[in-house]
Amino acid sequence: MTSQGAQADIGLIGLGTMGGNLALNIAENGFRISVFNRTLEKTDQFIAKAGALAEKLVPSKTLEDFVASIASPRAIILMVPAGDAVDAQIAALRPLLDAEDLIIDAGNANYHDTNRRAADAEAQGPRFMGIGVSGGEEGARFGPSIMGGGAKDAWDQVGHILEAISAKHDNEPCAAFLGAAGAGHLVKTVHNGIEYADMQMIAEVYGVMRDGFGMSSNEIGDVFEKWNGGILQSYLIEISYKVAKTADPETGKPMLDIILDKAGQKGTGRWTAIEALMLGTPASAIEAAVATRNMSARLDERKKGEAEFGAAPNELDREAVSIDALEAALIAGKIICYAQGFGLILEAAKQYGWAMPLPEIAKIWRNGCIIRSAMLNDMSAALADDDERNLMLAPFFSDKLKETEAMLRQVVAQAALHGLPVPALSAALSYFDIMRTSCSTANMLQGQRDFFGAHGFERTDKDGTGYHGPWAMG
Ligand code: NAP
Repeated sequence: MTSQGAQADIGLIGLGTMGGNLALNIAENGFRISVFNRTLEKTDQFIAKAGALAEKLVPSKTLEDFVASIASPRAIILMVPAGDAVDAQIAALRPLLDAEDLIIDAGNANYHDTNRRAADAEAQGPRFMGIGVSGGEEGARFGPSIMGGGAKDAWDQVGHILEAISAKHDNEPCAAFLGAAGAGHLVKTVHNGIEYADMQMIAEVYGVMRDGFGMSSNEIGDVFEKWNGGILQSYLIEISYKVAKTADPETGKPMLDIILDKAGQKGTGRWTAIEALMLGTPASAIEAAVATRNMSARLDERKKGEAEFGAAPNELDREAVSIDALEAALIAGKIICYAQGFGLILEAAKQYGWAMPLPEIAKIWRNGCIIRSAMLNDMSAALADDDERNLMLAPFFSDKLKETEAMLRQVVAQAALHGLPVPALSAALSYFDIMRTSCSTANMLQGQRDFFGAHGFERTDKDGTGYHGPWAMG
């Protein structure tokens, strides 16, 4: 197809929550953008509401007109639901595009799908990129964090647009090219997994304050607000204090007393846990967060459990666990959860041969995305120093863990004694304890494996592998 009359710098398909806001963001940054939506009325409504930005928007009623309205080589962003819709849209576009055109899937794709689509694109064109876009509706409109994956020359074609529309931190764009094929979507997945664990740990210390200390939502909100002025400063702590301090307009009660304790999920946390297991890298705090959402959904079962076993004796001795100890536990838990997340990315980078610049990833998470936080600055510096080292061994973070470890232990121990579930913090503590010991209990596992399956083991006193125990003789 020729590009006669083409004027737009870029095109976008899917004017839903994310796509519509992303298109306005692109237009506001001075780029001319063609838009297309499966349901045509949505396009009309979108243009009607765009105000002055409408002059930068080029609506089309057919896919053919849409394609023809974009300057060659064309770049087309897809913002449609992940999965079949992406494949269907690529199939519909392929006959209309030239080999050097570029399709960019900006939805929350499973990175295995992105790997497959990138391979298909290599074989039959057009070019393909998968980018992770974080920050929800507001991020899409005013500046998301963008995690780019695909061919580097494709990034070079559209990177200036993606950097322009991204969030900024100290004037640096929160958008970067991270590696080939599914690299961007893998990083977005891990971002979401970390988000699950970060949120879960905050919910756990909320639970200790509510059920262990009997504090009101407002009092808990005050604590989170204070913490937001320190090392824990983050979007998630900020929204937590705002959620805790908000009253229900209907009843006047705290919103948290009105919101049912059944957590939803769209699957990216689960993907992170699955990837961690598949890549053989520990992400136990993230796995605990996913499992806890699954448990929360089983409200009827939980009610039966409480009827059977009675409610736990939650009340805590304020002498045994202080508010400061809770803050310290959260600091330690957060460091460990990020150590696991970056460890997972490192492992994927090795497995797939992707560039994955870890310090850059920490940098582009500093603004625009849900897990933005002050600590990411220090993480970026630590990873720049040595990106192969476990983050908890970087001097800044090992010092922090030495300061906070005892309090994490105290919080987890007291919570366990009083029936207050802290699964993500417990998982973080167990990870810490295992990763700081050179003498684990896996010798017993190896003995058992050799006993029943002759799997062999290494010896502590000799080199080599494949030793067996004298079990048969016993
Ligand atoms: P949405 O509001 O439901 O919009 C979906 C859009 O895709 C609509 O324009 C819809 O068109 C179109 N669409 C649906 N099925 C299609 C198909 N089979 N073929 C062509 N077009 C189709 O979804 P969204 O929240 O914007 O999410 C879009 C993507 O961004 C998803 O991958 C999501 O996971 C990801 N994401 C969302 C968020 C968030 O906070 N919402 C954050 C980050 C990433 P119609 O008008 O015709 O239905």
